[in-house]
Amino acid sequence: MTTFEAFVLTRDDSGEQRLDWTSVADSDLMDGDVTVEVSHSTLNYKDGLALTGASPVVRRWPMIPGIDFAGTVSSSSRDDISPGDAVVLNGWGAGETHLGGYAQRARVPGEWLVPLPEAFTAAQSMAIGTAGYTAALCVLALERLGVTPGAGPVLVTGATGGVGSVAVALLAAAGHEVLASTGKAGEAPYLKDLGAVVVLDRAELSEKGRPLGKERWAGAVDTVGSHTLANVLAGTCYGGTVAACGLAQGMDLPASVAPFILRGVTLAGVDSVMAPMPARREAWDRLARDLPPGMLDAITDTRPLTDAPALAGDILAGSMRGRVVFTVA
Ligand code: NDP
Repeated sequence: MTTFEAFVLTRDDSGEQRLDWTSVADSDLMDGDVTVEVSHSTLNYKDGLALTGASPVVRRWPMIPGIDFAGTVSSSSRDDISPGDAVVLNGWGAGETHLGGYAQRARVPGEWLVPLPEAFTAAQSMAIGTAGYTAALCVLALERLGVTPGAGPVLVTGATGGVGSVAVALLAAAGHEVLASTGKAGEAPYLKDLGAVVVLDRAELSEKGRPLGKERWAGAVDTVGSHTLANVLAGTCYGGTVAACGLAQGMDLPASVAPFILRGVTLAGVDSVMAPMPARREAWDRLARDLPPGMLDAITDTRPLTDAPALAGDILAGSMRGRVVFTVA
């Protein structure tokens, strides 16, 4: 019997969850026509929720967490994917409903896999991960809805986080004037290095505000939700667009319709998990075009996968900066 090592989440009768680094049999892998030897994974906000049990993102037990992985195909029954191919997986329920990436091996439907872009190593693709690929989906949504370079400033909230850091870099590289909102005043130099022109204190956006405020930005990438998203909408210029992808402050949206009906503002929802393949490929193409690999290395902390449990609380507390890459031995 062939086995591999993985983190496995289990739950007892009382609902208490437990995480073990343990051996798993190949026969326990779920359905899929491609098997991948995983070389790298990463830590996303949702991984923090799964590892700690802070929110019920895991919907199949036992579960191997990890919503992202990169690795090399070891077997495939598909014509379009061959052993030796370098591939990346983001989302599709990995780590939630399908055994995920915190493992030496994964088996998935081949249509979930993206070829590793030539611009990146497997480690760099995980420095991007779901967070960075979501940032690219947000930037593409803004541009599709008219927030093109030169249209006016673009705000990024939660700017030192994984989604925020990559969004700042991508927007700046495309020629947007980027405003970055953060709760970490000391990280202003980091955000300016990524390309932000102005750094705002997130406190000015995080409390209950007015239905409409001064028009300040043509567009925004919001990773925070709640009052912050309401205030971002209230400060959006006439005809502008806000791409909403996150809930770091909260899942609520205590806003009014004023920005929509008086300023024609558009609220564009962005989901990475079930995004169709053409959108994924467009996002990865944009990342390959605009993200300097050196910048990725500068925002990345590389750790062994076995460090994942120790870091889970940090990402939920919002205390991390940039991205973590896990090496899978
Ligand atoms: P990170 O933890 O890396 O970043 C979140 C950032 O939000 C923090 O670094 C902090 O930035 C800010 N923040 C944290 N807590 C608060 C708070 N209470 N009020 C205001 N700001 C806060 O997470 P990610 O970047 O990986 O993810 C960001 C969000 O996007 C999460 O909610 C995640 O679930 C969501 N997401 C959604 C996806 C989708 O498909 N829609 C895909 C990926 C992520 P700072 O200190 O700079 O303000």
